[in-house]
Amino acid sequence: MQLKISNLCKTYRNGTRALSDVSLTVTEGMFGLLGPNGAGKSTLMRTLATLQEADQGGAELDGIDVLKEKDSVRRRLGYLPQEFGLDPKVTAIDMLDHFAALKGIRSKTERTSAVESLLRQTNLWDSRHKRLGTFSSGMKQRFGIAQALLGDPQLLIVDEPTAGLDPEERSRFLNLLAGIGQSIIVILSTHIVDDVNQLCTDMAILNRGTVLLQESPQGATGRLEGKVWEKEVPRSELEQTLTEYKVISTKLIGGTHRVRVFAESMPGPGFSAVAATLDDVYFLTVRG
Ligand code: ADP
Repeated sequence: MQLKISNLCKTYRNGTRALSDVSLTVTEGMFGLLGPNGAGKSTLMRTLATLQEADQGGAELDGIDVLKEKDSVRRRLGYLPQEFGLDPKVTAIDMLDHFAALKGIRSKTERTSAVESLLRQTNLWDSRHKRLGTFSSGMKQRFGIAQALLGDPQLLIVDEPTAGLDPEERSRFLNLLAGIGQSIIVILSTHIVDDVNQLCTDMAILNRGTVLLQESPQGATGRLEGKVWEKEVPRSELEQTLTEYKVISTKLIGGTHRVRVFAESMPGPGFSAVAATLDDVYFLTVRG
C-alpha cells in the first residue's frame, strides 16, 4: 500500500501559502507529520481527506487519484479531525451505530458487530451506555478513532489527536494507535515530537508549507550522534553562549541554564557529549 503525494500547492484566498510543493511517499505503518502551529499540517490532512481542494499537484493511493476519485478514496479512508462535534446527549453505542449507518453499513447485524468490536478495541465497551457529554477528552478521542475505523479503512488520518490529553490518556491513546498502525497507513499529524518518537517508523517535518525532511526518526537521530553537546551556563554567560555556538535548546534547571549545542566536534571547554534526540532533529530542522 502506498500514498504518493506529488508537488501539492495551496494558497488560501487571503494570500497565505499553506502548502508549497509538498511531495511525500508514505507506506504502511505509522507516519508522523511534525511541524509547528501554522506549518500546513491540517491543510495537508484535509486535502488528503478529500475535504479541501489543492491548487496544484496530486496524490495517489494505490493508483486511486485522491484529488479526483473522492468517493473511492472516502471508502478507504478514516479521518479524525482536530475538532469534531458529538451530540452530548447521545450514548456512545447509539452514536457509533449512527455513524456506521452513515458509512454505508446497512445490515443491522453487521453494524452491531462492527460497533461492538470497535468499542472493545478502543476500550470503551464498559462505557457504551454513557452519554458522550460525560466522556473525558481521552475517551472522546478514543471514540473518534472508533468512528474513523468504521468500514476498515486502508488510510487513517489523525490530526493533532493528543493535544489536551493528560499523560495517562495520551499514553493510552498512543498505544491504541500503535496497534492499528501495523496493517494500514496511519498519518499522525502533531506538533509533539515525543508522539512521533514513541510511535512512528517514518516521518516528515513540515514548516511554512514546505517539507524540510522525510526520514525515519531513528535515522534522523542517528545522523546527529556525536554532534550534540551540553554545558551548564550561568545566567550572566547565556547571551554570549547563544551568539557563540549553534544552540539547539536551553533549559533552566535550578537557576542555571543547560544549553544543548550542535557541533561537528567538541565546541569548547566545559561541554560534554550527550545522546542526540528527536527533539534535537526537530529544533535544528525547523530553525534551519
Ligand atoms: P497547522 O495544522 O500545521 O497548524 P494549518 O494547515 O492549519 O497549519 O495552517 C497553515 C497556514 O494556513 C496558517 O498560516 C493558517 O493561518 C493558514 N490557514 C489555514 N486555514 C486557512 C483558511 N481557511 N483561510 C486562510 N488561511 C488559512
